[in-house]
Amino acid sequence: MLVVMKAQATPEQVQAVCEHIELLGFRPHPLPGAQRTAIGITGNQGEVDRGNIEALPGVAEVIRVSKAYKLASRDVKPEDTVIRFAGTDATIGGSDLAVVAGPCSIESREQAFAIAEQVAAAGAQFFRGGAYKPRTSPYAFQGMGLDALKIMSEIREKFGLRIITEALDSDTLELVAEWADVIQIGARNMQNFSLLKKAGRLRKPVLVKRGLSATLEEFLMAAEYVMSEGNYEVILCERGVRTFADHARNTLDLSIVPAIKRVSHLPILIDPSHGTGRRDSVLPMARAGIAAGADGLMVEVHNHPETALSDGPQSIYPNQFAEMMTEIGLIAPIVARHLPRGIHIVAAAG
Ligand code: PEP
Ligand code: MN
Repeated sequence: MLVVMKAQATPEQVQAVCEHIELLGFRPHPLPGAQRTAIGITGNQGEVDRGNIEALPGVAEVIRVSKAYKLASRDVKPEDTVIRFAGTDATIGGSDLAVVAGPCSIESREQAFAIAEQVAAAGAQFFRGGAYKPRTSPYAFQGMGLDALKIMSEIREKFGLRIITEALDSDTLELVAEWADVIQIGARNMQNFSLLKKAGRLRKPVLVKRGLSATLEEFLMAAEYVMSEGNYEVILCERGVRTFADHARNTLDLSIVPAIKRVSHLPILIDPSHGTGRRDSVLPMARAGIAAGADGLMVEVHNHPETALSDGPQSIYPNQFAEMMTEIGLIAPIVARHLPRGIHIVAAAG
């Protein structure tokens, strides 16, 4: 259910409606919008008696939200969600494109700093790097853990980049929340409901990557789990799904961008690195992602991908990243977007 407040409703009236919803044993989710505040009601198994709520001062109407996902739905919040980061010009959602770049894994201080310097110079606002890695093999590099979180925190100080890194499980979630600006929930954890709920109790933005075979509804229900706990700063990330196609590691499903935009107000990023698994495909699919209307990109960049401890074959070189920024900066105005720090024209090699 959704309570739509009148445009002129006062904060006290919003508060009174929330208290009434709590008295009924449900959870209110006040969602301020440009025109009016809406209050989502969750925790009800069936219909809420709308009569009493409709009679409260400041209430315009009470609507039934028919979709399985409620707080993630545009029915509840028509305007796009824009996530801001205090003290920076970085945003996710809105007209500025968000660009997240960095290695798959933090491997050393030198490696991380060298990459961070180059992606920051090319215009990235966010730095990514795995500290805790979800690896298919238990014998593969598992990440540097806390040391990696500390390195990324130094990178934030030095280059002004906001940090995004994955929380692999409940054990690492709080540590990641303490050191990072955005908590990443990986594709393999997209339906780890207890982890999603725990992330929902934190007050840090959460980036949820699409599961390997998740439908649009399952993807949005993962976001809904986080939001149902009161954390409304959720970012979706399409990273490719499993199909019969064997020319790429995954099939990057760009068609999910307009489909998500139609039904949800949440921002969505495209990850063309995991989405293709191939360095030579990253740039074309990054361009296509922006053209499709994504709110930004998450890209793996490595200074020595040939010796990378994870995902070397899909990691682009820093100069390719700079080229990517130039190209998406040129595409952006066509879809009414721009890069917050302008277009960085890179001289062609040779
Ligand atoms: C990653 O971003 O490095 C990662 C492991 O992503 P995913 O969960 O999409 O496989
Ligand atoms: Mn990776």
